Amino acid sequence: MPITTEDTLQWLQQLAQVLQENREYLTQLDSAIGDADHGINMDRGFKAVMEKLPASEETDIGSLLKLVGTTLVSTVGGASGPLYGTAFLRASIALAGKREMYESDYILLLETAVEGIKARGKAQPGEKTMLDALVPALAAAKEAEAAHLNLAQIARRASEAAEEGMKATIPLVATKGRASYLGERSVGHQDPGATSSWLILKSLAEICARSSKT
Ligand code: ADP
Ligand code: MG
Repeated sequence: MPITTEDTLQWLQQLAQVLQENREYLTQLDSAIGDADHGINMDRGFKAVMEKLPASEETDIGSLLKLVGTTLVSTVGGASGPLYGTAFLRASIALAGKREMYESDYILLLETAVEGIKARGKAQPGEKTMLDALVPALAAAKEAEAAHLNLAQIARRASEAAEEGMKATIPLVATKGRASYLGERSVGHQDPGATSSWLILKSLAEICARSSKT
């Protein structure tokens, strides 16, 4: 079963809810190695997205991703706004005009998002950023697709790999973004951006699982 435009809308609504619920948690993580605003940034960005969401019959998946991208870039001041904004904008180009997302589209979405974040932030995995969740997630998704797993299974594997990657940021030294100012003192703390990346992929996996059952 593919993901539809309606499912994509539900994903964004659920994600906005999840980010609101995790606002304090993400902010607390950012207070240890940043400036204590990551939860505020993500919540503000997705609240702004919620205000602009059209009805599913008026739109398509690519247009929704584009709306998220432009809204995050214009409403989120921190580093994460332009980074996630670029990720959603790149993915929106890859999925332009589509009303259904199949296995290969999921890979495309994640792949173009990762490319966008790398191009914008000039970081690589191992630098204690959102890429430490997203790059392993992409690898796991590709592996699952090659093994002919379905969309719900691919999305679940990606989410699990993102969670592992997120936890694996704890011992890393930050070398990009605000946390890099701390150098060695960033060790022992989980990266806030890797955590929000996991939440994004987790809620997408939940929507994929739900749609595969209907
Ligand atoms: P700011 O750091 O400007 O306050 P946020 O707190 O919203 O912005 O986001 C911080 C997160 O952004 C970090 O936890 C990290 O995951 C991510 N980040 C910062 N710089 C980069 C970068 N160059 N590439 C990828 N991700 C980055
Ligand atoms: Mg911050």
